[in-house]
Amino acid sequence: MKKKLFTIFGNPVNHSKSPLMHNLAFKGLNYSGCYTRYRLEDGSKLRDKFFELDITGANITVPHKEIAFEICDELDEFAKRVRAVNTIVRRGDKLYGYNSDALGFLKAIEEFKGSKRVLFLGAGGTAKATSIILKDAGYEVTILNRSAKRLEQYPNFKTYTFESFKLEDDYNLIVNMTSAGLKDESLPCPINILETLISSAKAFIDVIYGKETPFLKFAKQHNIPTKDGSDMLLYQGIIAFEKFTNNRFTFKEIEQYMKKAFY
Ligand code: NDP
Repeated sequence: MKKKLFTIFGNPVNHSKSPLMHNLAFKGLNYSGCYTRYRLEDGSKLRDKFFELDITGANITVPHKEIAFEICDELDEFAKRVRAVNTIVRRGDKLYGYNSDALGFLKAIEEFKGSKRVLFLGAGGTAKATSIILKDAGYEVTILNRSAKRLEQYPNFKTYTFESFKLEDDYNLIVNMTSAGLKDESLPCPINILETLISSAKAFIDVIYGKETPFLKFAKQHNIPTKDGSDMLLYQGIIAFEKFTNNRFTFKEIEQYMKKAFY
């Protein structure tokens, strides 16, 4: 039987772990699939590429998640709300869009039971989707961002810029939702703000994975538990895989193979 083809579309994609994660699961579960990577410069070509290359399913990464939302024929309810898609499945001649990033994050923080007051540093696409799912799940989310512009997209949340920030709550989970520290050594907010958060913090969490960011180093220096973005990446991958294979396998079955990408 011909192998089904899956890919990650984005720019850049050369450092993505997704091909390894999905191929380990295909192999372990004896599923006839192959997952590759495709650097796509022009997002407006996304839909055509899907059909031209005969792709069954894809993950979509920076900077094409909003275009991915536009080009789907059908969207699940959560993708509709956040207007961003990171997983697409082709069924017949239709493209179905989902967003598994935010669900992956929600699952990744399950271990911090009882910690419900969350401060997000950053207000980009990932923060937006994740803030909505966390609020639905009963978390109180506050957003702190460098610039004011993006905060306009958070009418239902308490928001601050670095200049307007006042410590008005005891935040339990402090989350770096920015790309600060990804390719540089910067903190996501001024250090004097981080210092005010130490006493109530149960954990500092980063969505960046594969390196210890200055944000996580700061937490370790102050003996605060830390967590990087690896579990979020793993869980969003498992949720995408469930969609790719039309729920043929359970979360646990997929996890046992996909997590080998992180050893
Ligand atoms: P966006 O480009 O949409 O948003 C970037 C945000 O970061 C903005 O709020 C921006 O602030 C802020 N920012 C960027 N650089 C700095 C800096 N040096 N100091 C302070 N603030 C800064 O990014 P995304 O939401 O798409 O991605 C955010 C992060 O999430 C990335 O690091 C990405 O790798 C990670 N990610 C991880 C996943 C995982 O599975 N682990 C999944 C998806 C994303 P401003 O508005 O002022 O510009």
